[in-house]
Amino acid sequence: MIHCPNCHLKDLGKIGNHQYYCGRCCIEIVIQKEHLSVFQVEEDGSLSSLDDLFSEEERRINREESPQLIQKVSGR
Ligand SMILES: [Zn+2]
Repeated sequence: MIHCPNCHLKDLGKIGNHQYYCGRCCIEIVIQKEHLSVFQVEEDGSLSSLDDLFSEEERRINREESPQLIQKVSGR
């Protein structure tokens, strides 16, 4: 579950495959491999990185333990 690293809102608007938008902070959150990148959307639509404002820890994606897919073989 992706949350806004700034306000911790979890109800983010999805704007792309790996892009989310926090309507509360007006920031764009882009999912990198293990971390989030945070961008401020300027009035002209350009993006400026806010990564400096957040620590690695804050930008780390909290992956919930996903249960391993165990294929159960039937006894036949
Ligand atoms: Zn936010």
